[in-house]
Amino acid sequence: MSLGIHHVTAIATDPQRNLDFYVGVLGLRLVKRTVNFDDPSAYHFYYGDALGRPGTLVTFFTWPHAPPGQTGTGMATEVSFAIGPTSVPFWLERLRDHGIEHDTPELRFDEVTIRLRDPDGLQLSLVAHPVAEEPTPQADGTVPARHSIAGIHGVTLEENDLDRTIDLLTGVLGFHSTASDGDLRQLEITSAELGTIVHVRRHPRTSPGRVGAGSIHHVAWRTPDSSTQDRARVTLLSRGLQVTAPLDRRYFRSIYFREPGGVLFEIATDPPGFTVDEPITALGQELQLPPWLEDRRDLIERHLPPVRVPSLDD
Ligand code: ZN
Repeated sequence: MSLGIHHVTAIATDPQRNLDFYVGVLGLRLVKRTVNFDDPSAYHFYYGDALGRPGTLVTFFTWPHAPPGQTGTGMATEVSFAIGPTSVPFWLERLRDHGIEHDTPELRFDEVTIRLRDPDGLQLSLVAHPVAEEPTPQADGTVPARHSIAGIHGVTLEENDLDRTIDLLTGVLGFHSTASDGDLRQLEITSAELGTIVHVRRHPRTSPGRVGAGSIHHVAWRTPDSSTQDRARVTLLSRGLQVTAPLDRRYFRSIYFREPGGVLFEIATDPPGFTVDEPITALGQELQLPPWLEDRRDLIERHLPPVRVPSLDD
């Protein structure tokens, strides 16, 4: 059982271009500026709402020389964001003003969906969803609060065998099937408000995709605490899946495993969250390192390109 999506992590190349798009165009808040704990030569940027709540988070590893990813089976291929149904004209105008190409809005399971790509080619969509009509906590973002992205709407997984992935989503993570349209299935979860939708689509080819720039690295699911995470781990192991030991990710505790179709999944605890090393008002302003990398700060900072976070005044 999970509380829906915790975060989605993807790969970008140019860190400044990534900031300019996610903060400057989409209006998300940079809620943590850190490094990839497994490769401190790369930034790890976390974007979310003003509070950095699970369910609003997309994160990026920035590897300037990463080769482009290739679509194929066993990939998470799209992340969608929830916008208010009355904000659709605002977003069409904003994308046009910023020169961002997008598809003509279409209905996907009765929800207006605008598909676009980020600067590295990552497939995104903005989906008109009632949850986004509720007021959401926003800092002084670059998008007026009433039109801002509320958080993650959902993700799309592309698979050869839909059933075994759906069985994991329903049997372990708490989703239930709600709709289908040909080779596209929709699953939902009712235990959360954001990050509640998963689309599972049959991929036309059997060859596996390759993760690279512009592709999703993994999808993380929320769990309330480490004891529920431990129970989920036991369940996953009993299904014959290989699961890592719990890892300290500073802002949450994580386990990782590949779902039966090959997509890398993570289960992340809600606590402790992003205020563990800086106050809510200062989220994302300074480079934060976990205690075990702090003694290498000088070296790490020297190798990271300088970046600037876009603001309303730009
Ligand atoms: Zn993660």
